[in-house]
Amino acid sequence: MKLAGKKALITGGNSGIGLATAQLFIKEGAEVAITGRDQKTLDEAVKLLGPKAKAYRADVTDSAARKDLFAKIAKDFGHLDIVFANAGIAGQTKTGSTDEAVFENIIRINLTGAFFTVEAAVPLLNDGASIIFNGSVIGTLGQPGYAAYAASKAGLRGMARSIAGDLAPRNIRVNVVAPGATETPIWSRNERSAEEAGELAKRIASTIPLGRFGKVEELAKAILFLASDDSSYVNAVEFFVDGGSVGTP
Ligand code: NDP
Repeated sequence: MKLAGKKALITGGNSGIGLATAQLFIKEGAEVAITGRDQKTLDEAVKLLGPKAKAYRADVTDSAARKDLFAKIAKDFGHLDIVFANAGIAGQTKTGSTDEAVFENIIRINLTGAFFTVEAAVPLLNDGASIIFNGSVIGTLGQPGYAAYAASKAGLRGMARSIAGDLAPRNIRVNVVAPGATETPIWSRNERSAEEAGELAKRIASTIPLGRFGKVEELAKAILFLASDDSSYVNAVEFFVDGGSVGTP
């Protein structure tokens, strides 16, 4: 088992890529703390994950909730070996018709929330820990209509490289996994009709050389690699798991 005795925190561990990663981490011997905002899916996730998981309701943008969360994690887990800062939202911010609050909210969750998750985790981290941010291929390729999302994910890359320098004296590695289009509930968390969503999915698949969306289990395997000692000399990289995505529809 690749994570025997390790303790991991996964933000947004109640859905999609975060939940699949929690399942794989537990299978590989870890104990896992998952967070999210929605109590119902947190309860369902912890039921699915079993006794090696604990769920905590916390919004990554809420500093009081964060303080409370990390006090509970310190009590329940003592220390952490892995932080997967995965919580994120997508949302349109088309140039010419975007409200500032909508733009700011995406940055607050995807970028600022990820930084302050790590900031709060630092005192609990064991030397040799692994931090992974969940970026996106869109942070490199861009996507029309998604300037804030692309900026938030591109920001994670520079942020990870900076934090990697800060924490290197403790042999803590910091990397970004950059998924391409992956089958998760994020695609249905907006106002699109099922027909529009199906059309969009077809167009996106046509920009992926492998011709299909990724599966959460495929992402989880890459995240396990970055979390485990298998990647002991991999630091400050952005690891694309995107089927070779070449562009946006
Ligand atoms: P999901 O919507 O299934 O998961 C998003 C998770 O983030 C949920 O668990 C959600 O929990 C949590 N979350 C969102 N906002 C907050 C918040 N303010 N505080 C705490 N938790 C929050 O989608 P994915 O699994 O696809 O997304 C996971 C990550 O992967 C995101 O960062 C996304 O940008 C990235 N990604 C996804 C791609 C895809 O195609 N699926 C492609 C590239 C990157 P809750 O609802 O309970 O708050």
